[in-house]
Amino acid sequence: MPRPTPAEATGLGERFRRLLRDRRLPVTRQRLAIADLVFGADDHPSILDLQRRLRARGEAVGTATLYRTLDLLVENGFVREHDFGQGFKRYEPMPAAPAHEHFVCLRCGRVAEFANERLERMLRMTADEQHFHYQSHRIEVRGLCAECRGRDFGPLAAGGQSAS
Ligand SMILES: [Zn+2]
Ligand SMILES: [Zn+2]
Repeated sequence: MPRPTPAEATGLGERFRRLLRDRRLPVTRQRLAIADLVFGADDHPSILDLQRRLRARGEAVGTATLYRTLDLLVENGFVREHDFGQGFKRYEPMPAAPAHEHFVCLRCGRVAEFANERLERMLRMTADEQHFHYQSHRIEVRGLCAECRGRDFGPLAAGGQSAS
């Protein structure tokens, strides 16, 4: 889905600074670097991806700091945490989050987004029919991305067998 525009990412950054100050947590360069990275990411990065990118930017951030900052971002609604059954969590900034679902490639692990208004409506209607009070949902469609479909078969990535 649309990754946060620079303005939205900046807005998130400013709100995050405010949160740190409100909580009387030090506004450190590391915390800001982590937030900045996640707010600008459109590919649902994992912890490992984030560590690699921080290193590439020349930021020395410890794993504990990374985990703690991500927890803070998730708890306060800045970032959404996903478990796509790949054995690790993935993260995306909140402005990108509403009303989209995910395709998860079982071979290369890529996550693509899609939105379908009819699907959203149908889920609400179905819940209604069952007298179920709808609040939210998550859909993950597992399979092979277009690129992997064109390649030779190899063993599926972790998570493939737990799909059924
Ligand atoms: Zn793929
Ligand atoms: Zn997403």
